[in-house]
Amino acid sequence: MFDKEAQSFLEELIITPSPTGYEWPGQKVWKEYISRYSDKVETGVYGSAMARLQINADLPTIMLEAHADEIGMVVQHISDNGFITLNKLGGSDSTIARGKRVYIHSKKGRVTGVVGNTAIHLQDSKNGGGKQPAWKDIFVDIGVSSKEEALEMIQVGDPVTFTDELDYLNDEIITGRALDNRIGGFAIAQVVKRLKKQKKDLKVNVIALNSVQEEVGGFGARMMSFRHMPHAALVTDVTHATDTPGINNKEHGSVKIGGGPTVQHGGANHPAVVDLIEQIAADKKIEIQHEATSIRTGTDTDSIFYQQTGIPSALISLPLRYMHSPVETVSLKDLDNLITLMAETVMAMKEDQEFVIEG
Ligand SMILES: [Zn+2]
Repeated sequence: MFDKEAQSFLEELIITPSPTGYEWPGQKVWKEYISRYSDKVETGVYGSAMARLQINADLPTIMLEAHADEIGMVVQHISDNGFITLNKLGGSDSTIARGKRVYIHSKKGRVTGVVGNTAIHLQDSKNGGGKQPAWKDIFVDIGVSSKEEALEMIQVGDPVTFTDELDYLNDEIITGRALDNRIGGFAIAQVVKRLKKQKKDLKVNVIALNSVQEEVGGFGARMMSFRHMPHAALVTDVTHATDTPGINNKEHGSVKIGGGPTVQHGGANHPAVVDLIEQIAADKKIEIQHEATSIRTGTDTDSIFYQQTGIPSALISLPLRYMHSPVETVSLKDLDNLITLMAETVMAMKEDQEFVIEG
């Protein structure tokens, strides 16, 4: 599905820890790769990374966007006997943390710790037995016995991630930490790579933006889209696959992995951009799924579409199971189709492309 070079880029990008606010290790990997397929790479003041395929300054510029950050944790407190309390960066789920290994990314290097799980034999109501823990109830053990010893290795404010990396459940299905949304950074890089090959037929300029700080409010996307004001934006992120046991489809919709990328309707999704995407999907025989938005898209699209006088935007998502856990799971077939859909949509844009709501 992907060539060897792309496959190893995917694997390296996913396993490189880049929690919200500390994205530079992953951004370095992304910029190094995309610089081979673009004309110019630049970095925003907070670390968002952008690559450009420039055809002609008079032509419209289309932005492809994904977010670079992953949820994580941060060292909040170190007790006198060297146990560490965490807080969350973004929407990390405290109920899955106990009994897992973590890496603390300190300036002095990577420190391994374990999230303590009081033995089932010793649990009682006083140490949280049987209860869903909050982050303040959880502690990390890095094998030291005092605060002083801990401070030789780490400090308050160091980012923390689970140690889980990437696994293939089979040729098509992969699972790992931070697929949300390192997989989107991979996708837009592949779109640029495909567009570069067809550059002579491209009628628009293209920028690919890998934004920081999505998980805490879409800040990187806001800064960079204000600065560059593209003519339109195609955003990609992961979306909830709802095809696993116990999910109420009436409430959360029906999206499955392996059923194709999803197109979202309503709100920040501009109807004319969505129409074009649906038309391309039909022409190219790419199976897609549909999602409705209620108040927000819950992605960087919310930060992009209303900048200045408005940027016609649309969200194309990759179905993902078990969001915000270390076993996020997606289909590479969906990923390939998403990349094709984004690339073909850009290829279909004209030199005088307008997105107008018919009234
Ligand atoms: Zn995301």
